[in-house]
Amino acid sequence: MRDFIAGLPKAELHLHIEGTLRPEAVVRLGQRNGVDLPFDSASGVVRALADRPAGLEGFLDHHYLVGDTICTGEDFFEVTHELLETCRLNNIVYVELFFDPQAHTSRGIPFDAVVDGIQRGLEQGRADFAVDANLIMCINRERTVESALEMLDQARPHRDRIIGLGMDSYEEGNPPRKFVDVFARARQEGYRLTAHCDVDQTKSVQHIWECIDLLGVDRIDHGVNCIEDPALVAELVRRDICLTPCPVWRSTDPGPQDIDRIRTMYDLGLRITLNSDDPGEFDSGYLTDLMTGVQDPSGYSKADMTRLAINAFEGSWLDRVAKDRHIAAVLEYATSHGVAPT
Ligand SMILES: [Zn+2]
Repeated sequence: MRDFIAGLPKAELHLHIEGTLRPEAVVRLGQRNGVDLPFDSASGVVRALADRPAGLEGFLDHHYLVGDTICTGEDFFEVTHELLETCRLNNIVYVELFFDPQAHTSRGIPFDAVVDGIQRGLEQGRADFAVDANLIMCINRERTVESALEMLDQARPHRDRIIGLGMDSYEEGNPPRKFVDVFARARQEGYRLTAHCDVDQTKSVQHIWECIDLLGVDRIDHGVNCIEDPALVAELVRRDICLTPCPVWRSTDPGPQDIDRIRTMYDLGLRITLNSDDPGEFDSGYLTDLMTGVQDPSGYSKADMTRLAINAFEGSWLDRVAKDRHIAAVLEYATSHGVAPT
């Protein structure tokens, strides 16, 4: 099964560039840029990852700490290029990559330097590793609406290099409706739209409703709590909205997170994908390891794994021709391994 999963052509729709730093890279970038960190070795980073409090807040506090070691356009180039190399090793042939502009511009790094660095990394990575990618800028939802609108202004010269707008970070007290004007403007400007609805937040179900009804998103990131509301599930299926849950795990977790609820989503006919979120910050790592770890305890067959891979291309923002080309490659791979997709 592991070999089958490893060889499966994959797309990754929920991956944050700032969450890809390996412990060694955190130390290297931190020292290079003179960033004051509470750890001075890779093993120190690993320990901090294992010890951080469970839940979204504990995760985010660590995430921003290590993300702040990325300081220059050259850093962004290096991290992005390294990411695409790892994608190649995982047979990830397409990635829609999140980045958090406000987390960097608020530290004095120009928006242009961030995007230029990432784009150079994507172009070089495409040439070196044959991995295709598109960029999604995310609103940090704990920041102000004005700050999010300013981010859209800064993105204007890069409109053709950024495919979509997302929203992430501290969800408590920052419901989707806070950003209804920002999403309306982004849609007008031609961006595709997605938003995080993290797991087990206060009013998670209501937040998913707001995302589809008020923000008009094309996709939901996480969204696991939707199964609590049959009407919501029916609406997500009816609109064919793709959801991107992340069954990640840490060394201290008993197993992959939320796999029973994610399996329920799958069985309810929702278009779900499996995603690694922040592979540098979880032991689940990248898709081959993550999908292998999730498959057995979830009871997914090879046909199911094939269906999940197809969902990722179908739920992506590639054009129809590119989707069909990738899906044909997945089907050919499955058939050549004696698997009849469901
Ligand atoms: Zn995420």
